[in-house]
Amino acid sequence: MKSDNMNQSPNDTYNRRIDYLRISITDKCNLKCVYCMPEKKPRTFKKGDILTYEEIIRFVRIAHSHGLRKVRITGGEPLLRKNITGLISSIKEIGIGDLSLTTNGIKLPDMAEKLRDAGLDRINISLDTLDADRYRTITRGGDIKRVLEAIKEAERTGLMPVKINVVPIQGVNDDEILSFASLTFDKNYHVRFIEFMPASCNGLWEKSKCIKSSDIIDRISGLGPLKSFEFRGRGPSRNYQLKGAVGVIGIISPVSDHFCSYCNRLRLTADGKIRPCLFSSKEIDIKTPMRDGAADEDLENLYHHAIRIKPQRHRINEDTASYEHLKTMSKIGG
Ligand code: SAM
Ligand code: SF4
Repeated sequence: MKSDNMNQSPNDTYNRRIDYLRISITDKCNLKCVYCMPEKKPRTFKKGDILTYEEIIRFVRIAHSHGLRKVRITGGEPLLRKNITGLISSIKEIGIGDLSLTTNGIKLPDMAEKLRDAGLDRINISLDTLDADRYRTITRGGDIKRVLEAIKEAERTGLMPVKINVVPIQGVNDDEILSFASLTFDKNYHVRFIEFMPASCNGLWEKSKCIKSSDIIDRISGLGPLKSFEFRGRGPSRNYQLKGAVGVIGIISPVSDHFCSYCNRLRLTADGKIRPCLFSSKEIDIKTPMRDGAADEDLENLYHHAIRIKPQRHRINEDTASYEHLKTMSKIGG
């Protein structure tokens, strides 16, 4: 592993520059999306099991001094956690240049402005259908009006570009791919289609329900010519724009075409484990050492160790069955 000076982002064993951390701050949620949460009351971490804000901030500060540049806050539903604006402003003060958050949007209408004022740069809002009844079914009870309001409020407060995450599932919402893509004609949204992944999906997962990115692109091409559209930043999304559109369409294909060779990220779970790969169960506990009085140097070593053991790639596209019993996305922080 190469790290030439304190502030340079380290490369991992496979020469990928690691400068991005996704932090799950809770595994609780106010929705129970059919592909993410069990129907029965899910077992969630106890309060004392999850990292405190002080612990998260300490870890981010240490990682920042070793080249961390980009942080995303996720969950569970991150907006359920109290005083999230305090966390956002503390992370921003450390000097993280790109600070974003992924939310289901239900609580966002009342919080967007405060989040922006605290230093949040960007937001991703998850929305898998534009139909109110279907939304209620997919999320087991959610009110789509709140999410539509959230998108408007994010736009109004300048949390731009608003990214809309859509997981197209065959037979569930695949008939809405074109409606979502069409939103980009008039609105500067980034509509991101994420392939359905086999992580503890309540038996919903079947390979045939995962719509491959090539199929998504084929379908969208029915709306007109689609040109490749690159914008700054590395990441898993391949981006396109429809002729005459103002917004962007992103395709994220972890299943059919893994993007491991340019993966730049680590994850931190709500219960304080660094997870070098979404699809590997290898985790490095930082909570226990922190609570046992670890020095910053010990935590730096754990951070570098996580980078060093980041696997070259996952094999989810070859062997979905062995991934179906992974923790749910709400536990890992999708
Ligand atoms: N609650 C927030 C939300 O829904 O945006 C943040 C956490 S959620 C786990 C993050 C993202 O993971 C969402 O966009 C969700 O659609 C996606 N996700 C959850 N389970 C998934 C699965 N099995 N396959 C693909 N994406 C999934
Ligand atoms: Fe909650 Fe997000 Fe999972 Fe839906 S996808 S159940 S909103 S954590």
